Amino acid sequence: MNQSTDPELIVGIDLGTTNSLVAFCDDRGPRVLLDESTQALLPSVVRIDADGRMTIGREARDHAVEYPRETVHSVKRLMGQTIDQVRGDLDYLSYEVAAGEGAAARLRVHDRLLSPQEISAAILARLREIAQAALRRPVGKAVITVPAYFDDAQRQATRDAGRFAGLEVARIINEPTAAALAYGIGRSGEAETIAVYDLGGGTFDISILQIIPPSGADASIDSAFFQVRSTAGDTHLGGDDVDRLIVELVQREIRAQHGLALEFPPSTRQALRRFAEATKIRLSSEDSAAIQIDLGDGRTYERTITRDEFETMIAPWVDRTIDACRRALRDARLEPGEIDRVVMVGGSTRIPLVRQRVGAFFETNPYTAIDPDQVVALGAAVQAAILSGSQQAALLLDVIPLSLGIETMGGAVAKLIMRNSTVPCQATERFSTSVDGQTSIKIHVLQGERELAGDCRSLGEFHLRGIPPMPAGIPQLEVSFHIDVNGILDVTAVERRSGKRAAVQIVANHGLTAAEVDRIERDSISHARSDMKLHRIIDLRVNAALDLKWIRDAIKRVEGEIPPDYRRELDGRIAALQRFVDESEREPQSVDADAFHAAKEELDRASVRLHELSIARSLRDEG
Ligand code: ADP
Ligand code: MG
Repeated sequence: MNQSTDPELIVGIDLGTTNSLVAFCDDRGPRVLLDESTQALLPSVVRIDADGRMTIGREARDHAVEYPRETVHSVKRLMGQTIDQVRGDLDYLSYEVAAGEGAAARLRVHDRLLSPQEISAAILARLREIAQAALRRPVGKAVITVPAYFDDAQRQATRDAGRFAGLEVARIINEPTAAALAYGIGRSGEAETIAVYDLGGGTFDISILQIIPPSGADASIDSAFFQVRSTAGDTHLGGDDVDRLIVELVQREIRAQHGLALEFPPSTRQALRRFAEATKIRLSSEDSAAIQIDLGDGRTYERTITRDEFETMIAPWVDRTIDACRRALRDARLEPGEIDRVVMVGGSTRIPLVRQRVGAFFETNPYTAIDPDQVVALGAAVQAAILSGSQQAALLLDVIPLSLGIETMGGAVAKLIMRNSTVPCQATERFSTSVDGQTSIKIHVLQGERELAGDCRSLGEFHLRGIPPMPAGIPQLEVSFHIDVNGILDVTAVERRSGKRAAVQIVANHGLTAAEVDRIERDSISHARSDMKLHRIIDLRVNAALDLKWIRDAIKRVEGEIPPDYRRELDGRIAALQRFVDESEREPQSVDADAFHAAKEELDRASVRLHELSIARSLRDEG
């Protein structure tokens, strides 16, 4: 093979304890590269067969129980360490660890001594392959992330692993720094103190970083401007502990209910662990999770774990991470309130209780908008783009380039924040419902200058649920947008009568190039007239439909009391307005908006008497 490698093409790699992944950043921003089966996460697991062949990733992980001694997981724990430094880890590893030259930690598999670097190199080579297939170009350089507490030997081992995999390591950067770069922290030019809370599968790290932005007009922020003030954590604390708690609960109850002293074979234990993990993941988004296990002989174990029960169970585990946060702050000589920003990293930060406790401790709403599994790799890709000089096209963050709003009734857009607003900024709008008894409202967040939702860019949507049924127009929905200095958008919806609340966080400028912003702007100008008309028609249609509904209801109520002449007039005007409503649904562009408006006004005027009759009737009914 004689491929020439593109010197400018640099990928970002998160070489994790549990999972690894590779990302790339172009002028649209960073994105994770997917393998042939569209998976982003590559389990950091390598099986070595007797003939020396290596199986890497999902396949190796899924059969780990069958081959405990030749399946290497968590090799990151051994990187650049001596055998004495990893004694505490040995209980957690299913394979044999031995001392090599200079007491260096080595793995013994099939009587061969392997270095942790070789195993990591196999993972990196697989990631390189995924990147080359996804980008259809040779990849020869990478930015690789490591924990902030990694010492020189551990960093050097990571560099060596890259070299063995045919990758020139352009830079080694700290995982918390990468996470901050992914969120664009530092680009606003503000000096910030941030905490990065990383709760993965088997490890917990908290890092306190200080950002000293470069001075000068077009200085671009780089990992060099992030200083580590302190780190703390626990190398044996993570999502695995939660899986274990669920397994123990299930085993205990099966024993109590069925008198079974279950000695599960390893494959069943593994299945139980996977099942416990799935239950845990469900409880991150649902209020309860039902469990059902077939015990054979017609016996089943069934029960439901509620979110409350789950939270009580894991509270001490979350407390341990908060204790570490306290230690890190003390070492940095800071109070929780002095932290400007908290970035959440690692799959286990999807647990709502974790987010809640961390937010309460640091007195701020943590950053969760970017997938916590991907944020480190995405930040590594941002650093890679800066090194290769392809970051110039990145959007400036001190203004909002395109307006932000939500979809309203009939597919129109209510803009809350106008384009070119400077950050930070915020806005609140009141809305209501258009349908009687609505108990759930969809909030669709949009970006763009056009008047119709379909012509804007969708940034995300969420539901405000659990609203008690009320007639249309009665619920008081308040939607707030808040954008901070880093361009992170928090959208909150509250129904004031019931106090129900829901929220979403979005990185507003992700996936958008400067050229696209220009095009969207031009489009909005050329469509301005027809858009404005459409918006007016939609508003008329929504309001006319509400009027018609009210008037028809009122007619039903006072049926016998309406004089025939008046009734004929009303019916005529109702039919006229209904025709406009129907036409506006079929062909909104061809509706005569002024005539529509006039028909609505005429019915309004004509219905005054109906209104009086209806009020008189209500008074009589009450009296
Ligand atoms: P690492 O940093 O150790 O490589 P990750 O950041 O990939 O690990 O996190 C893996 C952990 O996250 C696992 O314990 C997994 O069960 C957990 N996890 C993933 N998704 C969720 C979720 N939705 N809710 C709770 N835990 C989750
Ligand atoms: Mg991680």
